[in-house]
Amino acid sequence: MSSTPPCPSADEDVYKTLLESTRAIPWRIDWKTMRFTYIGPQIEALLGWTPDSWVSVEDWANRMHPDDRDRVVGFCVAQSQAGSDHEADYRALRRDGGYVWIRDVVHVIRRNGEVEALIGFMFDISERKQTEDKLLQLQRELEALSYKDGLTGVANRRMFDSIMELEWTNARRNRQPLSVLLLDIDCFKEYNDRYGHLQGDECLKQVAQALTTVATRARDFCARFGGEEFVLVLPETDARAAMLVAERCHHTIAQLAIAHAASSVSPQLTVSLGIGTLIPEADDDPLRFIDLIDQRLYRAKHAGRNRTMAE
Ligand code: GH3
Ligand code: MG
Ligand code: MG
Repeated sequence: MSSTPPCPSADEDVYKTLLESTRAIPWRIDWKTMRFTYIGPQIEALLGWTPDSWVSVEDWANRMHPDDRDRVVGFCVAQSQAGSDHEADYRALRRDGGYVWIRDVVHVIRRNGEVEALIGFMFDISERKQTEDKLLQLQRELEALSYKDGLTGVANRRMFDSIMELEWTNARRNRQPLSVLLLDIDCFKEYNDRYGHLQGDECLKQVAQALTTVATRARDFCARFGGEEFVLVLPETDARAAMLVAERCHHTIAQLAIAHAASSVSPQLTVSLGIGTLIPEADDDPLRFIDLIDQRLYRAKHAGRNRTMAE
């Protein structure tokens, strides 16, 4: 362990207190000897191993899930040799035999061009991993018919409810903005009247298909909200980015160039959108949030359709 100076300065005290009270666990490895010169005492609460028991990099490698070890050790050694900061996710062995998902973020410290030490922080990411697993599971469930809209093939209202609940909790926990877009086809009653219900169905399929291409990040989500209404859920997306996605909706629907001679808005099919963004707080409510966005959609209709209302 690092030798503490006999009389630490006030600054050192502050740094030590900060380092040892954060949830991230700091550590330092001397590059020449490949031994730990420091590891935060928080490690014991997380894994059960005392700080003293972390002596060399072998201790680190041995306390890793065997399925992760070769990949992670190989990667970290190569990155460190190349002098590159890096990070790796792996399962760390607890003293009681269980495992905890860790993200290790590593900085390579050089002196006169030579690697001198590695300094890093270990983060407990088990909760995040659980969320990812849960999302994967929900996606698998989407494959099952019960979460799929029979006509358009996109997710249905039920799937939307599950995803919304999950992403709401996530956004609240991680204090990330969550954006939701509600989209309603303009003058769709007239479309059905003019072209027939079957062609109306075809039109809905085309619109749904187009909307799945509009938002492309891994966790972006599109569902049929009801009749001729669709919803997009965009995690970790602020108001500006949500507005860009809304513009892409208008653009993508316009590109479909679906004739709509009976529309009061345009000779081609158009849509109206209500959008909203928030970082959920404890007293916010997802239903109220959706209701607010629905009111904006309503105002977009009243303002002449074929537009987006964000407030
Ligand atoms: P607005 O511009 O105000 O939205 O006018 P609108 O005519 O689109 O009005 P509204 O949203 O109230 O009408 C929805 C229409 O969508 C009525 C309904 O017949 C039609 N619709 C809902 N579900 C389906 C469906 O599965 N297939 C077809 N073909 N039409 C549907
Ligand atoms: Mg409608
Ligand atoms: Mg409509």
